[in-house]
Amino acid sequence: MSLNHVRPWRNIYRRKSRQVMVGDVAVGGDAPIAVQTMTNTLTTDVAATVAQVQAAAEAGADIVRVSVPDEASSKALKEIVRESTVPIVADIHFHYKRGIEAAEAGAACLRINPGNIGDEKRVKEVINAARDHNCSIRIGVNAGSLEKHLLEKYGEPCPEAMVESGLEHIRILEDNDFHDFKISVKASDVFLSAAAYQGIAEATDAPIHLGITEAGGLVSGTIKSAIGLGNLLWMGIGDTIRVSLSADPVEEVKVGYEILKSLGLRHRGVNIISCPSCARQGFDVIKTVEALEQRLEHIKTPMSLSIIGCVVNGPGEALMTDVGFTGGGAGSGMVYLAGKASHKMSNDQMIDHIVEEVEKKAAELDAAQEAAE
Ligand code: SF4
Repeated sequence: MSLNHVRPWRNIYRRKSRQVMVGDVAVGGDAPIAVQTMTNTLTTDVAATVAQVQAAAEAGADIVRVSVPDEASSKALKEIVRESTVPIVADIHFHYKRGIEAAEAGAACLRINPGNIGDEKRVKEVINAARDHNCSIRIGVNAGSLEKHLLEKYGEPCPEAMVESGLEHIRILEDNDFHDFKISVKASDVFLSAAAYQGIAEATDAPIHLGITEAGGLVSGTIKSAIGLGNLLWMGIGDTIRVSLSADPVEEVKVGYEILKSLGLRHRGVNIISCPSCARQGFDVIKTVEALEQRLEHIKTPMSLSIIGCVVNGPGEALMTDVGFTGGGAGSGMVYLAGKASHKMSNDQMIDHIVEEVEKKAAELDAAQEAAE
């Protein structure tokens, strides 16, 4: 349960955006902030791509994007869409025919910049294909590929140029009476991205897809994304997010969720609160947390677990978590349930025991949720 009514310093007031559908996933308005990722397999390798889509979906991805660089990929897309349990966004660059093929293949959304297609007749054809196939569009402005006239006008990629680019693409869609679009204004630079997103958030009520592009590897990219996306989300900007990492898409999904969880914007799975450990620890906190993270991956119910090395912070943290364990002396510690000290458990059995307690609590919470619906 959210306790924000008694903790107003935790409130985030989301920007009011209109809602579009990406397949059966609502983006914008009061819909939960959707987590996206993108496959990095060859799209023509249907089996590998479907496996990656499903792994991402299992990790919590609401939407997955797939690149469609050629006609063979458009054909493969049809099969991928059929096999996938989550809506598929087709990533299109330059070639309008791929856009039409992807819409026909069942893509839930096209990531395409209408201004880059060129010829007005072709733009109309893509927009009509999207409309005919219930396919939304994401305008994806990128600081690295801004239009020449904007670079000439502004001298370099800057927030104003990115916002102007976005608005130009929006105008093309609106002139064609197409309104099911969302927009992103990505840059690899956190400052540029954040400023561009603030600008576009003021200039349109379209849902916003947040991302820091080419953010880097797992650690550096996670930090960049947490700072960039985290600040924007905290300001209330963003309806769907994609964390771009040079890493497995599953990692992108996990990081995306962790950012949303940290801000209380979405909850999924076990939120582990653990201390860094020190000489006072009554058991090996680091190894235990590593093991529990793996053993509890299957839990999707939002809940909290505190794993604290000693009584300095253990009882206090356990007070605010569903399940807790605090290290004690003589090879055992205290198990807390719903904030209250419950029973002692020996260190060598505590991992199995905590997994059991968490599973039990998750089943209880699920049953309570079902009863409330
Ligand atoms: S809670 Fe205890 S074991 Fe953990 S870091 Fe603090 S003092 Fe050390």
